[in-house]
Amino acid sequence: REDLRGREPYGAPQLDVPVRLNTNENPYPPSERLVEALAKAVAAAAASLNRYPDRDALALRAELADFLNHDTPGAELTAERVWAANGSNEIIQQILQAFGGPGRCALGFEPSYSMHPIITHVTGTRWINAHRDEDFGLDVDRALAAIDEHRPDVVFLTSPNNPTGTSLPLEVIEAIAAAAPGMVVVDEAYAEFRREDTLSALELLAEHPRLIVTRTMSKAFAMAGVRLGYLAAHPAVIEALLLVRLPYHLSSITQAAARTALAHADELLGSVAQLRTERDLIVGWLRGQGLRVADSDANFVLFGTFPDRRRVWQAMLDQGVLIREVGPPQWLRVTVGTPAEMAAFRSALTTALKEIQ
Ligand code: PLP
Repeated sequence: REDLRGREPYGAPQLDVPVRLNTNENPYPPSERLVEALAKAVAAAAASLNRYPDRDALALRAELADFLNHDTPGAELTAERVWAANGSNEIIQQILQAFGGPGRCALGFEPSYSMHPIITHVTGTRWINAHRDEDFGLDVDRALAAIDEHRPDVVFLTSPNNPTGTSLPLEVIEAIAAAAPGMVVVDEAYAEFRREDTLSALELLAEHPRLIVTRTMSKAFAMAGVRLGYLAAHPAVIEALLLVRLPYHLSSITQAAARTALAHADELLGSVAQLRTERDLIVGWLRGQGLRVADSDANFVLFGTFPDRRRVWQAMLDQGVLIREVGPPQWLRVTVGTPAEMAAFRSALTTALKEIQ
């Protein structure tokens, strides 16, 4: 395929090193108690693995709706307004299969999550690259001008944004949702880490039927291995997704594990406060080193600038600390880990900075 030639596949290295801070996972594995609950739920599902799973995952979707209503009182979601798939990557793919495709285009504001343009291309949709400001925020007038010029079928907003960590004020999202001619996707993979005064786009759903808010269990929920992403939207959007999903796309095992995780949401999300504290500490420390640091509302921090970031990345890897070369060319991203992992990060970066001097 001409439009895929020369493109990079998703490229985060999966290296077996002592300190892995490169894919924004939660560093805390499930507790023993939760492992037992998961094992029980998976065993119960295993007893009927001769049968296909619930194709519509209705129980899971109802429980996700309850969880979101708790997160954003007033969202008033039901199973008919919530959809689930194998990670928010599959959610993004299904959205593009339903609303993109040949002859259509999707627009995003870079630097942002690399899979938005990659999946856009995979679905034969044209990608339009608009830009964020110097401080990685969005200027509303420029954003609206880009939308007006290209009339995209799908707009991607990511808040908090990956890899910058910056959040968008609700007024910016609302202005874009009001002006965009097609669907507006707000990717909130890191929503649980945002500051208390930053509101979720779930607040806007009732007023904007073409708005889609996506979430995942891979980050704050510490369930990246389960592969469960979900979204909230108008019921007509869910009906469109039903037309493109593969039958029985969510296995019984995935549904059982995700429902168990949701039943223990308070325990799982208990690590969020600790990760926020650790994030703010590392932001302060990096600034203390004289580095530039993007404001982060997520569980990772983008920092720079380095004339040759590969040298810093490699010097850290040589010390067993894997971070990520992503975003603008002179910046690096570190995922927030445990206090011990962050101590290893600080020590490795101190050595790396001396090496490049
Ligand atoms: N969206 C954003 C902004 C992300 O950073 C990621 C993962 O890094 C995803 C979506 C995909 O997550 P998953 O497919 O694990 O739900």
